[in-house]
Amino acid sequence: MKTFFILSAFALLGTCSTPKYTIRIQNLKDSIILVDSNNVTTYANTITYQELKTHLYKFASSEFQGRKVGEKGQKLAAEFLKSYYIKEHIASPFGGDNYYQTIPKDFFSKGINSSENVLAYIKGSEKPEEIIVISAHLDHLGISDEGQIYYGADDDGSGTVAIMEMAQAFNLAQKNGHGPKRSILFLHFTAEEIGKQGSEFYTQHPIFPLENTVANLNIDMIGRIDDLHKNNKDYMYLIGSDRISKELHFLSEKVNNTYYNINIDYRYNREGESHQYYSRSDHYNFAVKGIPVIFYFNGEHGDYHEISDTPDKIDYNLLERRTKLIFTTAWQIANQEHRIAIDEENEFLK
Ligand SMILES: [Zn+2]
Repeated sequence: MKTFFILSAFALLGTCSTPKYTIRIQNLKDSIILVDSNNVTTYANTITYQELKTHLYKFASSEFQGRKVGEKGQKLAAEFLKSYYIKEHIASPFGGDNYYQTIPKDFFSKGINSSENVLAYIKGSEKPEEIIVISAHLDHLGISDEGQIYYGADDDGSGTVAIMEMAQAFNLAQKNGHGPKRSILFLHFTAEEIGKQGSEFYTQHPIFPLENTVANLNIDMIGRIDDLHKNNKDYMYLIGSDRISKELHFLSEKVNNTYYNINIDYRYNREGESHQYYSRSDHYNFAVKGIPVIFYFNGEHGDYHEISDTPDKIDYNLLERRTKLIFTTAWQIANQEHRIAIDEENEFLK
């Protein structure tokens, strides 16, 4: 009935969209069936603002000296993440206690030391070869010329601690027999701030074949509110969700509409948008390889890339809600029957 109605409507209106395309999109929307709603809520609710806050006050503290790529503070931050995964009994994709993908000095421009991406892994129960990458960057700007620390609480401490909490939730689910069907790779990139080089290295030297990488959900700044949303803070920008897989976009929408109803703002996803955020964080290195991505972002604020990006300015309740939405989206991608489909054509719904 629905299909017929749409066909008729378009025949009457004579729009430029072809009926065939419209039917496909409608079928795609209707085909999203959410999985496992009781369990996903149970495990999403283990993500708490208290734990996010505890992790972030540590990760964005002076101890890590602004986490500049290749420097002591960044190495300590990597160690902190590794210790966390060991303590939580969350495996490395390499096995044993090696959680690092080392990037040699030569890969970077002169003056940058070797550095490391940090990776943790939960093996899928049914389709372990299919991988969902959840990522955020661990590095930041280091110390200013005046000797002041760039704490990078929002950028990207917020994404980092979101991943820590999601990994813990997926791990608990697995322990209780509700582990994801597909595998999840938790990927903390280094060297984002010097031009997305950690993700560039990973996509050039993937641990799991890129053709088996189902999607990349990348988080870069989700703990704050920008000027445009001062009176409507329950929002998040999503960028890129409809560019490679319309199914990913509809899935993401349905998860949000069903569970959280966060006000999703797509203004920065518009083609030709002047900020070009789509190409400005680590997901872009996956997108250029044809892997569906979603970039989660709160927009810029006065403390962006300033020494004043500190953990006391984070809205932890909001960070919790946004993290839960990303977790629930990942759960759906990992557990639905079929792998999300890549679009055959890209000319629509831009
Ligand atoms: Zn960032």
